[in-house]
Amino acid sequence: MKVLKFGGTSVGSVENMSNVKNIINDGEKKVVVLSAMSGTTNMLVSISNDIAGHEVDGAIEKIKALHETYFSTIDKLLTNANLNKKVKDYVSEIFNFLVECAYKDFSEHLENNIVAQGELLSTYMFNSYLQQEGINSSLLPALKFMRIDAEKEPDIDYIKRNFEVTINTFEDSEIYITQGFICLDDDGEVSNLQRGGSDYTATIIGAAIKADEVQIWTDIDGMHNNDPRYVENTKPISNLSFDEAAELAYFGAKILHPQTVTPVRADNIPVRLKNTMNPSAHGTLISSVTSENGIKAIAAKDNITAIKIKSARMLQAHGFLKKVFEIFETYKTPIDMITTSEVAVSLTIDDDKHLSKIVEELDQIATIEIDKNQSIICLVGHSVVNHQDTCKLFQILQDVKIRMISYGGSKNNISLLVDTKDKVTSLQKLNDYLFELVTL
Ligand code: ASP
Repeated sequence: MKVLKFGGTSVGSVENMSNVKNIINDGEKKVVVLSAMSGTTNMLVSISNDIAGHEVDGAIEKIKALHETYFSTIDKLLTNANLNKKVKDYVSEIFNFLVECAYKDFSEHLENNIVAQGELLSTYMFNSYLQQEGINSSLLPALKFMRIDAEKEPDIDYIKRNFEVTINTFEDSEIYITQGFICLDDDGEVSNLQRGGSDYTATIIGAAIKADEVQIWTDIDGMHNNDPRYVENTKPISNLSFDEAAELAYFGAKILHPQTVTPVRADNIPVRLKNTMNPSAHGTLISSVTSENGIKAIAAKDNITAIKIKSARMLQAHGFLKKVFEIFETYKTPIDMITTSEVAVSLTIDDDKHLSKIVEELDQIATIEIDKNQSIICLVGHSVVNHQDTCKLFQILQDVKIRMISYGGSKNNISLLVDTKDKVTSLQKLNDYLFELVTL
């Protein structure tokens, strides 16, 4: 069985929902994971921020406006009077719940419950639409099987067991619709897999049922070789290995949640990226196959903080790095890039929630310099470190101040740290000289 995930734009309008219906209605049994309609999760986050800031009127206004938008979509989508009424009743229940939330004290638990409503809305509406169109579908509530543990990792055994029980109650269905993104935490409270987490839901389910393939349907023809939001002339990449895709997703390729390939790579389950608006396009196939060597794609990750830790105590001494790493460990802050010299170590983090505490502790053992607003530019490709194009990088970026370089950490990745104001120029130059073969 295949698992197909459709993103916010794919379920963001009646026309696109009809495209999705045509894509999935091919007579094969499948699991379909849906995001919230585009814009909904952002609006729910904004409602939740209003509640946190005691702006109840603002929250209520947004809830009412969203409620009306859903009603007008339902009127366009569901011409069957009974289904139209049934879905409006369900949707109203959700919006009444949101109004109740607006008068409650803010907590993380409340926020998680608020942002979970987007996927509950989209899946209920879409499943009813399929029923109207005579398609044999059923709705599998993700909260019955999707759970993360205390480390926020998917609890695969629990998921496997409970997914099986849930799906078996609807054995005769052809299409199983379920919510992406939402899950329970280890206390059984509503939680989520972080923004963009529906991709992750799809591969977690894919791994749990040992799917033949996981397909991620978005609004672009697969993963591009550079960031199409900033760079002209980007092109879709037809094949990527699991390693390459993981590096790109982690270092900023927005099309995929960073963890997407983690659950499926061990079982060698391919992930195909496809475009709902252009289903015949090849898209990108992510699998264990590695194709040609060289730089295949470039991605950039913003909001990076660089920390330089300088100490004469590093000279010919051991144990210094251990102390440094322990401080980051205490604050559960992952380190992305790292470079060292005999007297200093520079590293980067993207989660600066605990930065002041970390700096306070580092200050006791070294002199610290902080550079905010940095971007990691990540060049990915099979055996990229050995490729002849690699030596051109300094020439291509001769006018850009490169703050750090990470080379050789893996064969498939070279990362450069630049000031974010230099990011777009760097990406465009790399694109022109590496992919468009402009001569240096
Ligand atoms: N709806 C969630 C978000 O907007 C999850 C997803 O779309 O994957 O982040």
